Amino acid sequence: MQNIPEIENLIKLISKLPGLGPKSAKRIILKMINNRQELLKPLANNLNEVFKNIERCKICGTLKSNTYPCNNCEDKSKKFTKICVVENISDQWAIENSSIFQGYFHILGGTIADSNNHNKRENLLINSLIERIKDNNIDEVILATSATIEGQTTAFYIQDSLRNTKVKVSKLAQGLPVGGEIENSDDGTLISAFKDRKHLDNI
Ligand SMILES: [Zn+2]
Repeated sequence: MQNIPEIENLIKLISKLPGLGPKSAKRIILKMINNRQELLKPLANNLNEVFKNIERCKICGTLKSNTYPCNNCEDKSKKFTKICVVENISDQWAIENSSIFQGYFHILGGTIADSNNHNKRENLLINSLIERIKDNNIDEVILATSATIEGQTTAFYIQDSLRNTKVKVSKLAQGLPVGGEIENSDDGTLISAFKDRKHLDNI
């Protein structure tokens, strides 16, 4: 293949995406170039829009457009009494798909073990979680972090952080395999994990 810097750079970038290597990156790029008007142009415009407009909500941690309020935490038409705490937005999507939970989500954006979480409390939006519990009269916080060491350490850290709020804290229990990640769990596993969630005693 001839060396065209623009394409080489694109191959390097696309190869960094989950599930893609250089081979599939090349196939994707060729497909886009061969469909300039239908694929390449709208994709380039869309990526630019996402770059400009999509940001992490500073209150609940989900992704939102900076052009309108967050529909996860700022929609006043929704009134719930429970908050489900997850590591990533893909966990939220998996739980929403299973329809087992009706309530708010709080997205930590990782675990306390993540190397980029130097300022853990702030990055995981823990203070914001405490505010949300008070502002929305929340009666239960469900910790739906992964059944990994990092996920469980994070759950314990949050449980400890919430000890003065008097809110009931529960944790997904049975159903999730040890080492299992929320986003990779099937609906049945998630539903039984929610139903069997266990109340955590105040520390
Ligand atoms: Zn939000």
